[in-house]
Amino acid sequence: MELSTRTAHELHNMLVKKEVSSREITEAVLGRIEQVEGQVSAYITVTADAALAAADAADESFAKGDAPGLLTGIPVALKDNLCTKGVKTTCASKILKNFVPPYNATAIDKLANMHAVPIGKSNLDEFAMGSSTENSIFYPTKNPWNLSCVPGGSSGGAAAAVAADEAIVALGSDTGGSIRQPASFCGVVGMKPTSGRVSRYGLIAFASSLDQIGPLTKDVTDCAMVLQSISGKDPMDSICADVPVPDYLAALKDDVKGLKIGVPKEFFVQGIDSDVSAAVWKAVELLKSLGAECGEHSMPVMEYTLPAYYILAPSEASSNLARHDGVRYGFRSAQATDVDSMFQKTREEGFGPEVKQRIMIGTYALSAGYYDAYYRKAQQVRTLVRQSFEEAYSKFDVLITPTTPTVAFGLGERSGNPLEMKLTDVCTIPASLSGIPAISITCGYKNNLPIGLQIMGKHFDEETLLRVAYTFEQNTSFHKNRPALGRE
Ligand code: GLN
Repeated sequence: MELSTRTAHELHNMLVKKEVSSREITEAVLGRIEQVEGQVSAYITVTADAALAAADAADESFAKGDAPGLLTGIPVALKDNLCTKGVKTTCASKILKNFVPPYNATAIDKLANMHAVPIGKSNLDEFAMGSSTENSIFYPTKNPWNLSCVPGGSSGGAAAAVAADEAIVALGSDTGGSIRQPASFCGVVGMKPTSGRVSRYGLIAFASSLDQIGPLTKDVTDCAMVLQSISGKDPMDSICADVPVPDYLAALKDDVKGLKIGVPKEFFVQGIDSDVSAAVWKAVELLKSLGAECGEHSMPVMEYTLPAYYILAPSEASSNLARHDGVRYGFRSAQATDVDSMFQKTREEGFGPEVKQRIMIGTYALSAGYYDAYYRKAQQVRTLVRQSFEEAYSKFDVLITPTTPTVAFGLGERSGNPLEMKLTDVCTIPASLSGIPAISITCGYKNNLPIGLQIMGKHFDEETLLRVAYTFEQNTSFHKNRPALGRE
């Protein structure tokens, strides 16, 4: 079996037993990138030299007998909105096209300290705003299951890289679904941890109260390994909580007996693909047959989550993105004649249409005359959403829903229809608004495109999510399927 197709836990065991070197693994992944990247376009930058240097450092530490980290020697793709010291971090935007951060994000530092292998910076929608990776200023990423379809977004490059074996695992970011939705479209595992579980330091801000870094992996065990490696308190991120990090690998039990699983009917939205809902219900039936107690539930406030998100996220973005002004870093327009025109031209030329639209909506929603009508209302919805989840969790341990109402759509199919594009986030946004953890795993296929199942849990209870996901995985074989790409 080719090394690039292996999971991180398989490779970790092989590395520990000295059956393989990190250099061999890294060369295999770089070889796979050479083979298929021309078709997939998962990366903005491939950092082959840094990867091989890290692989050698990992091999050296194995040779010395140092206690290995879970991801020592494992090739990781990094979404290109995560700051990497000395390596371009573009956010897929013209305004940061040549930005080289002077520091690492905390999550990246944690990986670097254990000699994980940074294989490259993966493509995304500009500033993580989008659901298809078509808003990248470089090029769209393609779905490895069907190259004429989108990989989802905004972590489309990360999801496609893992699905296509161009990385073993990846780090993405999720503000309203940007890890889970592309994981669903690309048939990989994606988790948005609880807000405050993983430090956001060095994640280029989109909507700070919603942004989270999390794993995209080939299976649930790898998801636990990545989560373990990046979690924990960080003084550099004030919302990063001082909550002990449990042993996530110990949470991987093939057992859901007695667990209470709720299925909120509002997530089976109007227009949902009947094959998607059938696959999700089949998954619920399977968990029931394995001993879980499953019951239907209702969360009527869910109707308002999408509109609330599309006020709150742009509002925060309009404030966060004010720093990109051509003064301190990034692109500066050459057309300016004075300081005011410098700000104006830099932002006019530097941001793409989706980002500009959000800055304008956010500025409007926060302006004195409209704050109460929009921003405050949306915040109130957010409180109701939180309460609705609290109520649900007084009855259930986890909630199960589809990750997205449809499978991956065609490239270009929704780019002219912003409403339809945004509707792909309808099932992922509620967890973002309430800060709870959520995971997406594959539970079926339609026309050879993966269907995602979302499991949402209580704050800081990633363990139960992992346990349910792991049990599902142990009793099905979806996670073993790979796209045929390059192997036909
Ligand atoms: N698709 C959503 C948006 O465009 C979510 C993006 C994200 O999670 N970064 O806002």
